[in-house]
Amino acid sequence: FGYNFKGKKALVTGAGKGIGRATAKALVECGADVVALSRTESDLKTLKTECPGITTVCVDVADLQATREKLWSITPIDLLVNNAGVTSLQSFLEVTPEEYEKVMNVNHKAVLFLSQYVAKWMIDRGKGGAIVNVSSMASKVALKDHTSYCSSKAALDMLTKVMGVELGPHNIRVNAVNPTVVYTEMGRKAWSNPQKATPVLQRIPTGRFAEEEDVVKAILFLLSDSSSMINCETLLIDGGFCAN
Ligand code: NDP
Repeated sequence: FGYNFKGKKALVTGAGKGIGRATAKALVECGADVVALSRTESDLKTLKTECPGITTVCVDVADLQATREKLWSITPIDLLVNNAGVTSLQSFLEVTPEEYEKVMNVNHKAVLFLSQYVAKWMIDRGKGGAIVNVSSMASKVALKDHTSYCSSKAALDMLTKVMGVELGPHNIRVNAVNPTVVYTEMGRKAWSNPQKATPVLQRIPTGRFAEEEDVVKAILFLLSDSSSMINCETLLIDGGFCAN
């Protein structure tokens, strides 16, 4: 990937599968000391087998107290990737409070409070840091059956900007990446039906959905000093979908 994160400790949430797992592995490849957090132990076990040097933490980020307790011995952290996310497919008229809360708790509330915890350590240490929130193209376009998800990611984009404004003076940059569909487990859940996927695909000027690696490369760039003047950005990885 061409980056050197030697001497940096990186925390990636939702690192058991998909984009988070690929990001954790890429950071290991770039020399970072990586902490992979997820909520399914078997995923973390296989990741540890693939990358023996990695530290794993099994916790649900929606449980704020348990997450803080687990991270206590791991801080301070230089690089944070808030990637854990969930979706729930319900038409607007059928959204339930339970599903809405589940999505908001993981995609927004957990990011706020985990970042708050990590940022306090970064500030105390005085060495700055970088935070990347994994948002979505769904923060910028309204997608049918994605009421809770689109709302959570739009809120995450604004959270990213406010965090960047307040943490920037401490040399902590905060940015988001906003990918289009990636065929991970989550992507397959929402976009396996060609009747749904094809019209979206047809609107992407580059003619394809994103690969995990497309997202990983953008995350690494935003974590690295190559983006040292980029803060509060929400970076679309959509092949031009939103411009079209
Ligand atoms: P996956 O479902 O493939 O992987 C998500 C990972 O996050 C899993 O390991 C999952 O663990 C973990 N996770 C979910 N919730 C929690 C939680 N509460 N606490 C701890 N870990 C958790 O998803 P993707 O890789 O596709 O998605 C990653 C991020 O990218 C998400 O924020 C998503 O919204 C975003 N995104 C995805 C797109 C796509 O098309 N795939 C497009 C745009 C954005 P477990 O399996 O055990 O639940």
